[in-house]
Amino acid sequence: MDTFTPDQRSRNMSRIRSKNTKPEMVVRSWLHKNGYRFRLHRIDLPGKPDIVLPRHKTAIFVNGCFWHQHQGCRKATLPKSNQAYWIPKLQRNVDKFESTLRQLEELGWKVIVIWECETKKIDKFSSRLGKELERGSI
Ligand SMILES: [Zn+2]
Repeated sequence: MDTFTPDQRSRNMSRIRSKNTKPEMVVRSWLHKNGYRFRLHRIDLPGKPDIVLPRHKTAIFVNGCFWHQHQGCRKATLPKSNQAYWIPKLQRNVDKFESTLRQLEELGWKVIVIWECETKKIDKFSSRLGKELERGSI
């Protein structure tokens, strides 16, 4: 059951959207441990990627499953109430992110999306991330 009013939920959401969230920290600490050099929140790039690896010309986004509607993910389930509010709002996020991806790719950046739920299974996400980064390395 959804007990949040839209107001309360958007307050929660702004907390989830804030920088230096836990899922992002998990990814950063893995990169650091594995010797990858990265920079954070490059505001000069489309979509302000959470993490940027300049040597690999790779941008990493750590996306919240609900906020970015992770397909097939339990965490992306729509609230039962206020769907008229949520459906277009979340669709705008998805559309906006897709256009960000296109813009980055046009600029020659490789983009890796890590989902919030993946960061809870460290083995899974780290082997995928490792492979993706190797493929993108020069
Ligand atoms: Zn998910």
